Amino acid sequence: MSDGMGDEKISILTERVLSRFKGREIDPKEVSKRLKLLIYEFKVPEEEAVRTVTNYLMKEFDITREEVAESPIRTISEITRAGEWVSVKAKVMQLWDAESPNLSQVGLAGDPTGIIKFVIWAKSRKPEVKEGKSYLFKNVVTDSFRGRMQINVNRNSDIIELDEDISLPPREIELIGALVAIQQNSGFIQRCSLCNRVLKKGVCAVHGKVEGYDDLRIKGVIDDGANYYEVILNQENIKALTGIGIEEAREIASEKLDREFVLAELKKRLLGYYFKIYGSKGSRYFLVRDIEFLSADIVSEANTILSEIDGLVKTAREETAEEGI
Ligand SMILES: [Zn+2]
Repeated sequence: MSDGMGDEKISILTERVLSRFKGREIDPKEVSKRLKLLIYEFKVPEEEAVRTVTNYLMKEFDITREEVAESPIRTISEITRAGEWVSVKAKVMQLWDAESPNLSQVGLAGDPTGIIKFVIWAKSRKPEVKEGKSYLFKNVVTDSFRGRMQINVNRNSDIIELDEDISLPPREIELIGALVAIQQNSGFIQRCSLCNRVLKKGVCAVHGKVEGYDDLRIKGVIDDGANYYEVILNQENIKALTGIGIEEAREIASEKLDREFVLAELKKRLLGYYFKIYGSKGSRYFLVRDIEFLSADIVSEANTILSEIDGLVKTAREETAEEGI
């Protein structure tokens, strides 16, 4: 029944079955024989034949499904349900004290999509993981504890140290501060249509005199009272704050016959005002996801709260002084 092609197919499928039983004494001929029988004699579809032979071997050698499962690699954000077998590439961020002798290690691990708690059971007998190192947590079980997901490392899991450095999610923070400066090359700018660099008088630093396209942006400095942050506001940010988008900017520029008037208008509407900004700290810039005006109400409210706190602190100090503590 079988020709050369068929034999090759059988040997590939045999390899596939055996790859899930590494370290076990299983005769490849036995596996091939069963696959051939199922596929050629009983006309069972290949996938089903593989499954059938795998199940037979599990029963024969008393192996659990978990031990032979190849768990799919998931990002942390994809882990949303308890009780699934997955593999996760993540960096160990923190190690906590393992409160129970049943636990070997407990901590937090992260990848670019999120952070998750991991639990390594003492019974799993795994080598210890270290803070700052990246690992493939292979065949781990997802679990949910008090509404938060975690991954559990058991004796069927593997922890493999990776050479690559898994990056962590950018931490988004809220910044409240005043826009104290708007830098050069802000406003109604033109960009090189080849490389998107900002043109200076129609000239790209790389491509020379080129066709440009219009854009709006602000390179600014935010002062939150403690630090200065460089921020870049894009077209959408600017339109949302001032109502001036590309079309409005073109109107202003053509009416005044000068693109610089757009920048003057933007400065009038933004410079010196307080903003609430959501985003993450990059190496140089604060990366803005969303920005809104801090309303005058909120500013005065904040001042009221601050002076109230000030008052409370003073009262507390006075009381402490009176009690002679
Ligand atoms: Zn260019």
